[in-house]
Amino acid sequence: MRPRVLSGMRPTGALHLGHYHGALKNWVRLQDEYDCFYFVADLHALTTHYEDPEVIGSSVYDMVIDWLAAGLDPDRSTIFIQSRLPEHSELFTLLAMGTPLGWLERVPTYKDQIEKLKDRDLATYGFLGYPLLQAADILIYKAAFVPVGEDQASHVELTREVARRFNHLYGRGERLAGQVSAALARLSKDDQRYFDRQRKAFGQTGAAEALAKGEAVIARAASGIAGWSAGDSELLTGHLRGSGKVILPEPQALHTEVPKLPGLDGAKMSKSYGNAILMRDEPDEVTRKIRRMVTDPARVHRNDPGNPEKCPVWDFHKVYSDEATREWVWQGCTTAGIGCLECKQPVIDAIVAEQKPWRERAAALLAEPKKVHWIVEAGTERARTVAKQTMKDVREAMGLNY
Ligand code: ATP
Ligand code: MG
Repeated sequence: MRPRVLSGMRPTGALHLGHYHGALKNWVRLQDEYDCFYFVADLHALTTHYEDPEVIGSSVYDMVIDWLAAGLDPDRSTIFIQSRLPEHSELFTLLAMGTPLGWLERVPTYKDQIEKLKDRDLATYGFLGYPLLQAADILIYKAAFVPVGEDQASHVELTREVARRFNHLYGRGERLAGQVSAALARLSKDDQRYFDRQRKAFGQTGAAEALAKGEAVIARAASGIAGWSAGDSELLTGHLRGSGKVILPEPQALHTEVPKLPGLDGAKMSKSYGNAILMRDEPDEVTRKIRRMVTDPARVHRNDPGNPEKCPVWDFHKVYSDEATREWVWQGCTTAGIGCLECKQPVIDAIVAEQKPWRERAAALLAEPKKVHWIVEAGTERARTVAKQTMKDVREAMGLNY
């Protein structure tokens, strides 16, 4: 089984090139190595768009079309909608009980975003809690890895703290001892004695052989005893190792270098700044947008030499152009050998070429809307199986199984 990766995107409008190069392109690559779970984070969209939720509903399936157009493969990735799985909200509520307020107030993006999105009232309980909802999203699928940029690393760290606290509070103690005995009782008498000998040997000597023998008993039970669950195996593994039960495994951040794409005005490309080139913009729209994109402000006249480091078009060359083109740009710009429109043309051509397969795949999907719904349906049900099992374990661990 391949390790699981989990990530989501908020359906708050059409996707742009920043989303593609900053996230989606990496998602597509991860499919080769991981069991990928990608979700439409509509609850997260509500944390900032609770006053105008219409855009969310109208963006959900369009976003999935952009994902599929970019190369997500529903046979390899589980694609689903967050709010269709009430388990996310349930785990969020249960985790909220023991999460100190300070942990959330300290998340660096919290104050940041409140500063940045001044036009929205984000002094809400939901907005404060969104990193915890993210923790629930990750933990409910027991994801091993979460792809993150620098700014999101603190969210994975919070998730790890939340999991550690949960396992500490509910992964040991009397209730658990009862569950361990119940699981042990399902083994044959011989296996019970044998397992106990290995557990004691491992506890006293730390011998790897004893651990392996104990684990072999658990593996046999998992394949041979009807109704034996993954939770039962985890329970006995914890008992064998003397570590208590890991109910919610801690995820790890999967750091990837991704470019930050500027928009037409030189600020970060963002749909909320109105400076974006959309993944599905038509070629003439792309041409129009790039041609009016800002350049080095010091290069006022055609004869003024420019500084590529001060020009957002240069950031596009870094993403889209080969060595030779970049050399041509650098040389031409710094000596006023080429004009800005000349410099922009290879970028326009590269974007239009990149978009071509997206446009074709999107057109095919738009012609068959049922197919997209069906993909999301299948993904949502696959995710539900995993989420339900985790919630069963969580409820049991917290003693909510009456
Ligand atoms: P927007 O910023 O356009 O309003 P959003 O806030 O709904 O979109 P984010 O959560 O900011 O969406 O972005 C989703 C993913 O896309 C994140 O991984 C983010 O880092 C990435 N991303 C967004 N904009 C850019 C960009 N301009 N350059 C690189 N990556 C980006
Ligand atoms: Mg953003």
